[in-house]
Amino acid sequence: MVSGIPLKGEVMHINQHFTLRRLFNENKKARVAQYIYLYVAPTAHSGLGLFTARAVPANGIVLDVQDEDYLAGARSYAELIARGFTDGDIFQVGPDLFLPPYGQLDDFTNHSCEPNCGLRVYPSGFDMIALREIAAGEELTYDYSTHLENPEETMVCRCGTGSCRGIVRSFSQLPAAVREKYLDLGIVAKFIVENHTHNRPCP
Ligand SMILES: [Zn+2]
Repeated sequence: MVSGIPLKGEVMHINQHFTLRRLFNENKKARVAQYIYLYVAPTAHSGLGLFTARAVPANGIVLDVQDEDYLAGARSYAELIARGFTDGDIFQVGPDLFLPPYGQLDDFTNHSCEPNCGLRVYPSGFDMIALREIAAGEELTYDYSTHLENPEETMVCRCGTGSCRGIVRSFSQLPAAVREKYLDLGIVAKFIVENHTHNRPCP
């Protein structure tokens, strides 16, 4: 718009611009609203963790993150380790594809061998699902092994639950019954499920 008098096409363009900006802001507000009930606080044994300030029913969605660029920062394991990230910082989204922390509260979600949440990851975001009823003030956890298939990664676990495995390893190294339980719940990374199905013996 050079003359100051917009042509018809330019008006449409400007309106479009404002519509897009309004949608973007609404989307941002919606995304921020997701985090209103979540907070980060110290845990007994695992540093900082993610907590919920309100109760969540079983199967309820704790967090629904939609982000078209969710996987844009994914890099190989070697690249992220070379950049100074540790095994505990990164999140596996493909056979050799990992996300570094992305600056949201859920970066602080700790592992537990008896988790109260599970993750369903999509190309454009993820859902964090309550696996049981969760009380207000509880820490939110998921089992890191449901999104881990990398022999180079192991982590000492201090979850302190009755079924603590001591060391967090890849999904394929979980006891068979635990693998089946997580697969039935639909909270195992898609790239692991596909691989797991391929490796199953034919009936
Ligand atoms: Zn544990």
